[in-house]
Amino acid sequence: MAREKGIKGGDITVVGIPFDKNSSYLRGPALAPKRIREALFCESSNMWTEDLIDLGEFSGWEVLDDMRLSSQENVFELIENEIRQLLKRRLRVISLGGDHSITYPIIRAYREGYQNLNILHLDAHPDLYDERDGNQYSHACTFARILEENIVIRLVQVGIRTMNGHQYEQAKRFGVEVIEMKNIGKIGQIKFDGPVYLSLDLDCLDPAYAPGVSHHEPGGMSTREVLGIIRNFKGRLVGADIVEYNPERDLHGMTGMVAGKILKEIIGRMLGEASR
Ligand code: MN
Ligand code: MN
Repeated sequence: MAREKGIKGGDITVVGIPFDKNSSYLRGPALAPKRIREALFCESSNMWTEDLIDLGEFSGWEVLDDMRLSSQENVFELIENEIRQLLKRRLRVISLGGDHSITYPIIRAYREGYQNLNILHLDAHPDLYDERDGNQYSHACTFARILEENIVIRLVQVGIRTMNGHQYEQAKRFGVEVIEMKNIGKIGQIKFDGPVYLSLDLDCLDPAYAPGVSHHEPGGMSTREVLGIIRNFKGRLVGADIVEYNPERDLHGMTGMVAGKILKEIIGRMLGEASR
């Protein structure tokens, strides 16, 4: 395949982070990484990306087992250290959550290797609460913690449809660029200078496309719209997470297949980056 010419490979790793204790409403995402891996390799589909890269043949990526977190007191420290070890090997890391709180320790690890890091965040929720139910590390607070530490230069949120007064104030305070769902028809190409980390909360999708999430928030994106954003934004994709899949809420593993498809296309974009 002509597309494969010039692919810079060998540096993509997929790791599971089975942690959901910072969920504010329902548990379940700790079960997700295994199910997403199963969906990726499910024989009902094939391993070709839409840009005709055969992931089944290409050896430039690997899938690791879940991180072992169960007996750990300080889970965030452990996640941060594990991600840091992977980044030291000069890998681009795709993490499978887990609830959305895991993005905070991941980004803390990323800051060492990447100054000028941008985040593209797809979600129904801004996740900008200063605290939620007394937990400042709740999955609803992730981006407030990240922005307080000044470890990224830009946060662009897409798909938001649960903005409220407090989080609107937080977005203003931190300079977050919010593309709300109600304005999704008006977005052109999203452009970044420098490295981009993609944080994808599956509830950015409409529950009709992805029922297997804890927070059903109607009025969301289609699978095609999400794939379009992943495929079209300008910038160098250096890491990603897919979070908030809750298999206990899923129907026939449908949302698992959506997550598997998104994972496949993220790997595809990363492998193809050099030829873009
Ligand atoms: Mn969400
Ligand atoms: Mn979220």
